[in-house]
Amino acid sequence: TAPPHLVEVRRYRYRIEPRGAMRVPGVVFASRELLADAEQSLAQVAGVATLPGIVTASYAMPDIHWGYGFPIGGVAASDVADGGVVSPGGVGFDISCGVRLLAADCDRRTLGPALRQVMDGLDRAIPRGAGPGGVWRPSGTGERERILRGGSRYAVQRGFGEERDLVRCEDGGAVADAEVTEVGERARERGLGQVGSLGSANHFLEVQQVDEVHDTAAATAFGIAPGQICVMIHCGSRGLGHQICTDHVRLMDRAMTRYGITVPDRQPACTPVESPEGEAYLGAMAAVANYGRANRQLLSDATRRVFRQAAGVRLSLVYDVSHNLAKLETHEVDGAPRRLCVHRKGAARAFPPGHPDLPDDLRSTGEPVLIPGTMGTASYVLAGVPGGDAFHSTCHGAGRRMSRHEAARTVTGRELRARLEQHGIAVRPRSWRGLSEETPEAYKDVAAVVAASEGAGLCRTVARLVPLGVVKG
Ligand code: 5GP
Ligand code: MN
Ligand code: MN
Repeated sequence: TAPPHLVEVRRYRYRIEPRGAMRVPGVVFASRELLADAEQSLAQVAGVATLPGIVTASYAMPDIHWGYGFPIGGVAASDVADGGVVSPGGVGFDISCGVRLLAADCDRRTLGPALRQVMDGLDRAIPRGAGPGGVWRPSGTGERERILRGGSRYAVQRGFGEERDLVRCEDGGAVADAEVTEVGERARERGLGQVGSLGSANHFLEVQQVDEVHDTAAATAFGIAPGQICVMIHCGSRGLGHQICTDHVRLMDRAMTRYGITVPDRQPACTPVESPEGEAYLGAMAAVANYGRANRQLLSDATRRVFRQAAGVRLSLVYDVSHNLAKLETHEVDGAPRRLCVHRKGAARAFPPGHPDLPDDLRSTGEPVLIPGTMGTASYVLAGVPGGDAFHSTCHGAGRRMSRHEAARTVTGRELRARLEQHGIAVRPRSWRGLSEETPEAYKDVAAVVAASEGAGLCRTVARLVPLGVVKG
């Protein structure tokens, strides 16, 4: 079939008219340049628009690229009371993958040559790579379940952080609706040995410097200032999330026809939110979300130790938020509040100023949005804006432009490290191949993605951060 036709509504906003089985239009926030070679992912945007119960539109963010079933950079919400579905493919394999930003009590000048000791310390302290290993080995079934139920909150209780961290975590560090019994044995086993680990590939821990502040009031509220040293951590739920996605796609695949649901080609399975399978997935997903948060909390603790010992520097949490999650939220649809299952897959939540779920000290600024770019260019801190769109969502990164294979053909890991080091960026890789797959050229221009997101009215820019050192899986 022909790729969907895009109609430009206004700058940075395109529309795909409903055709065939599409129940709603597609809405794509981007520029023509950002959409070069996007045919396949735009077809996925149209495919998502066929989901039972979907409301308003199937959305794509400027960093959209191809994903399993749903595009990465996609947002879709279904009406729970109207047979709306939940789809594990709308969350992705790395459930609760997300970003955490910590701000140091020093700037680049005061950190000085200690940066090198910090990088060497992080190289030793941060478990990473595809296999098992983590900073904390839970001592038994009870402790494992407390992680799945308590997330960051439990990690802080056990001494891996400070109370204040929880104020700056989405959902206060844990959601209450985790159904530990829905997490299968294989998933638990895979997750157990990886608590407090980065993983591989696109996951990283980066020491950064605040390069530009665009919105001083918001930056001050978030706790960042020009020149300041920051640490950005991007990781998810490791083998646990992957196994839960696999298990529940299989369960839904079998159940789907019972609910009279048929999905177009290669769309992953889904069932109504209000069905045993839908509830089972959401309960398991919530448990995995807690695990993902505990994971980032434990890595923060390891990072804080390194900074303290190597440089006598303290780190405070700016924010922690997932970009792969489905959440039950209330939004206005056609003038009436509706209970929706909002899927954000490679999309960041961006609540507007005044939103009741924001921490008190951030209520007037809007939700912090953390956007990793690449290890060679820049990353951004954005904020939610009044109105917003796509159920208060925005981009989550630069977005891939090249496949891993293609990227690895353009440069070797050793060449890339030499090039980055020449630009003053310290590189502590785990694998040369993994490093080359993450070459900055493999990603879209993060500045263009952020400009399109802001131009589309999804968020505003608060600060730009540049890399000083990267720890890669
Ligand atoms: P994803 O969650 O889709 O795997 O990745 C989110 C984003 O992280 C990517 O779109 C990319 O822009 C960014 N990213 C990947 N690797 C790095 C890195 O080493 N450093 C920084 N700053 N960003 C990265
Ligand atoms: Mn991930
Ligand atoms: Mn991610």
